[in-house]
Amino acid sequence: MTISKPPGAVRSKTGFWPNNRATIIGVAVLALIIVIVPFTASSSLMNIAVFSMIFALPAIGLSLLMGLAGQVSLGQAAFFAIGAYTHAILLQKFEMPGVVAAVGGVVAAMLAALLVGLPMLRLRGHYLALATLGLGFIVMIAVREWEFTGRTTGIYGYGRPEVFGVPIDNNGLFFWFVAPFVLIGLVLALNLTRSRAGRALSAVNDSELAAESLGVNTYALRVKVFTLSAGFAGLGGVFYAYQVQIVSPQVAEFHVSVELLLMVVIGGLGSVWGAIAGAFIVELLSEGLRDLIPAIIPGATGEVQLIGYGIVLILVILLLPGGLYQAARTSWAAIRRGIRPRSRAADAAAPAVPDGTADTGAGEVPTRAFGGLAGGTSAAADAALLAADLPAVSTPVAAGEPILEVRGLTKRYGGVVAVDDVSFTVPAGRIMGLIGPNGAGKTTCFNMITGAITPTAGTVSFLGEEIQGRKPHVGAERGLTRTFQNLQVFSSTDVVGNVYMGRYRKGRAGILRGMLGLQGREQYTHEAVARDILDSMRLGEFAQLAAGDLPFGRQRMMEVCRALAAEPALLLLDEPMAGLSGQEREMLAGLLRRLRDAGLTIVLVEHDVAQVMALADSVAVLDDGVLIAHGDPETVRNDPAVIVAYLGTDAEEAEAELKELEEQA
Ligand code: ATP
Repeated sequence: MTISKPPGAVRSKTGFWPNNRATIIGVAVLALIIVIVPFTASSSLMNIAVFSMIFALPAIGLSLLMGLAGQVSLGQAAFFAIGAYTHAILLQKFEMPGVVAAVGGVVAAMLAALLVGLPMLRLRGHYLALATLGLGFIVMIAVREWEFTGRTTGIYGYGRPEVFGVPIDNNGLFFWFVAPFVLIGLVLALNLTRSRAGRALSAVNDSELAAESLGVNTYALRVKVFTLSAGFAGLGGVFYAYQVQIVSPQVAEFHVSVELLLMVVIGGLGSVWGAIAGAFIVELLSEGLRDLIPAIIPGATGEVQLIGYGIVLILVILLLPGGLYQAARTSWAAIRRGIRPRSRAADAAAPAVPDGTADTGAGEVPTRAFGGLAGGTSAAADAALLAADLPAVSTPVAAGEPILEVRGLTKRYGGVVAVDDVSFTVPAGRIMGLIGPNGAGKTTCFNMITGAITPTAGTVSFLGEEIQGRKPHVGAERGLTRTFQNLQVFSSTDVVGNVYMGRYRKGRAGILRGMLGLQGREQYTHEAVARDILDSMRLGEFAQLAAGDLPFGRQRMMEVCRALAAEPALLLLDEPMAGLSGQEREMLAGLLRRLRDAGLTIVLVEHDVAQVMALADSVAVLDDGVLIAHGDPETVRNDPAVIVAYLGTDAEEAEAELKELEEQA
């Protein structure tokens, strides 16, 4: 297929600086503010500004973890404290140079995160939040009780930092000392959010199963971002130790984690900019609450401040769920609308979701046909689709050679045997249909082949390698891709972003290259391929539409595009025709035939028996978890066991229904 330069695609320009003009302007404005603030701010505001910068670092880390990767952490203070303590201990007890002690602080925080992250990140959702909360308490108690960390007194008596012999001994200088690290951290984090790894992280957040099935090693990615997030926290701790000149157990207290959480929530989950704004607001708030709470509750100190944070957190969640970032985006959009009233012409040009194809839910058929959606006459458009370039497929084995071998595959759920001792071989370059009545075990079989569930017994051999019980990314990396009966759309991105994720296994850039903006032409090339696939499937005009806004039938087609973007060797389609109109089904069937002719191997679970019989080279029939027939469509169609099991227990009635089916076919 040809790779054309798409309009609005990511430019091929690469490097450390983000290539989005708004981001560059934003970073420049922030840099300017940083230069000016020490000349203009009062001493109390300067104090707030310094701590905002210090806490912005762990907040950026937490924002990546929570906003991008969707992992809630209530223990970010633990890594902040590890960074601060390590730095102070290396300076005071081991008299190491400042730079070495600082690097030590960051590395210690990251190592601790790696160690606890490896077992902890196997947990999900609330369990992970609770585990990180527990970690926070462990660190707090450990530093309070351990002689080496100075118990309740802490570590003190180390010097202030010096830069080229100049002591950083006032707030203005300290602000300039920290701020470049925050700016660099901001740019690194922004680069990450747009990179292959960052987009994979947010895909994991949307649908872990779909991301895994495209080759994303979700566990490894989560561990890495957790470690990275701790690195940001550790660096914040290093600066904190320098600024406060004493590191005591206070630094590991629960309220520090709450403050950091508040910064991210106020700023807006998922926004790195928001984390910096949130840090400033929470520091202002904390200063205000320090005066306000004792005035309202005489004698109240310390932990009582948490009440104030709690109230603010509830108010933000209720009134501003998207935080400042969302509010700023909405206001900016309103301002732009005010400046540039939307013209009728612009309205007409905007890609619209076609009416009559609203999300109908699984199984319902949209009222408008596929052919009418892309403009032009249906017949001409359909012909264009059938003549369009095919996405590339990979053909690692010769046609007819076994590509997938399933032996004795069994899945038991307590007393229910969902799949019972099923064996079959899929030859390369063929379409195999897997059919059976509701509850026959088709999806369970699919899930065991792709690694979504572990078989109770049996083997799955793909390209000669046994992959049963291994995570879905293992098969996906080798070229086994699937679609889902219940759609798994990455709703936080647009249509082209979904298909781009299909390219994941073809890319190489990891978190580090992503942060440094060193992805080469990789990202541009993969986006171009994603757009070409959408164009060839006549979804090109919806490329920029939020994926969740597509009608159901289009989402299904988008999933097929996403799977094809992976250039699979074996494509497993779980009910791809469900929700498509008759014409759309024909179109998809035509596409699958062309893909098969190009060498792609396809396994198809489908309820539309007529379509499967017409399309497949071989058909396997499951009933009650048992493989009751497997052969060419003609033989299977006339198999009495299939007729009875599939169409009913009354053989005569079954044969009549079968005839009707054949007529339809
Ligand atoms: P359909 O065509 O309706 O999607 P299917 O052929 O894909 O059905 P499966 O979804 O694989 O069938 O289910 C096979 C059997 O296993 C059913 O009886 C189902 O109730 C059972 N089953 C599936 N998943 C589980 C589970 N997690 N726990 C218990 N039973 C399950």
